Amino acid sequence: TAYLERIEELDKSLNSYLTVLADQALEQARAYDSGTLPLQDKPLGGVPLALKDVLCTQGVRTTCGSRILENFIPPFDATAVARLKENGAILLGKTNMDEFAMGSSNENSAYGPVRNPWDMERVPGGSSGGSAAAVAADLCAGALGTDTGGSIRQPASFCGVVGMKPTYGRVSRYGLVAFASSLDQIGPITKDVRDAALLLQVVAGHDPRDSTCLEQPVGDLQARLDEPIRGMTLGIPKEYFVEGMDPEVARAMEEAFAVFRDLGARLVEISLPHTDYGVAAYYIIAPAEASSNLARYDGVKYGFRKQEARDLLTMYRESRNLGFGAEVKRRIMLGTYSLSAGYYDAYYRKASQVRTLIKQDFIQAFDNCDAIIAPVVPTPAFKIGEKTQDPLQMYLSDVLTLPASLAGIPGISVPCGHTSGGLPVGLQVLGPHFGEAVVLQLAHNFE
Ligand code: GLN
Repeated sequence: TAYLERIEELDKSLNSYLTVLADQALEQARAYDSGTLPLQDKPLGGVPLALKDVLCTQGVRTTCGSRILENFIPPFDATAVARLKENGAILLGKTNMDEFAMGSSNENSAYGPVRNPWDMERVPGGSSGGSAAAVAADLCAGALGTDTGGSIRQPASFCGVVGMKPTYGRVSRYGLVAFASSLDQIGPITKDVRDAALLLQVVAGHDPRDSTCLEQPVGDLQARLDEPIRGMTLGIPKEYFVEGMDPEVARAMEEAFAVFRDLGARLVEISLPHTDYGVAAYYIIAPAEASSNLARYDGVKYGFRKQEARDLLTMYRESRNLGFGAEVKRRIMLGTYSLSAGYYDAYYRKASQVRTLIKQDFIQAFDNCDAIIAPVVPTPAFKIGEKTQDPLQMYLSDVLTLPASLAGIPGISVPCGHTSGGLPVGLQVLGPHFGEAVVLQLAHNFE
């Protein structure tokens, strides 16, 4: 009731929810309160959570922030959603997002921008901006987001909350509407690291319905949280202190590094030499995969269809033209171009090769350190409208989150202070493949 009241009071201006499941949530809560539903052995028993609107929910509208899916009601739950339910979570609603998770500011939503609770003139980050803002403003106890190139970590950083992207394949993508299938991962956005571990524990683990979902056991993600980090070696990548970094972010980083030194960690400078090529490789690979994944929205099977079109091709064309927003169209065109015969070798293959080099950078770095610590974004949250005229500026803000996504390694954003203007700054902890436990341990020791 308290969360629903806050949503009612605050979300008219924040716009973090697209759908609120008030009746359903209260009914569930009553069932737990009265004992009709047993709470026993349910790690999330009665915990009110929000879901990014890219996760399929049975019987509940799932828009992906797009007009084309405005009325899409999935007949099934995503595996991650089903696992939350089985473990006792109460679903408060579906959160706003950049259309099909394409964006870094939540301004690409067909349902209006989300505002940053710390400064209503600023963006919450994206694409999981609704989830991050809702957690920051106490409109839910925690949320799920998705991260393809930073969409959990970057909004967590902008909103002063914790956000974790697991190793690629840790969480089943079944029922997650696909953007870039080789990159998409579901993960938690929470108030603190322990909550992130708890949520991830519930949703992670093998699922036969997703062939890319890992069979490796997840292990106990909370077991190491309180273990000291004394003696651990942490790498600081010199390439992550990019030109144009906000001096206040740089200062927050220095302070965070001092905390790790005080905790007894050894800090060493490392090099991830292909970092510079991350943006270029990602913005070939992600749109290429998107152009293929989004071909299914043709007005026939899902969502919006332009009525009274003259013929089939016109129906396809007009449904897509009216249903998709500008950024989605841009990416479909970029992706279609880079996959077309004659260009594939020059673009997609080349980008895939660069991706391998970026992955090798990390694997080599982890020979010499247990984890990497770095900024999440070079700047704090920017103003609404500040980067909308220049897509390239928007893409460049992802420079420090994209490499981990391309490499498939786990990473977390944990709050590490504020600018003098009161805007949150996040610290990124990156670990080797399957290294969720060490990432969580370091972040928890730090927070
Ligand atoms: N900002 C990046 C993009 O626009 C990443 C988005 C994401 O992680 N979903 O593609």
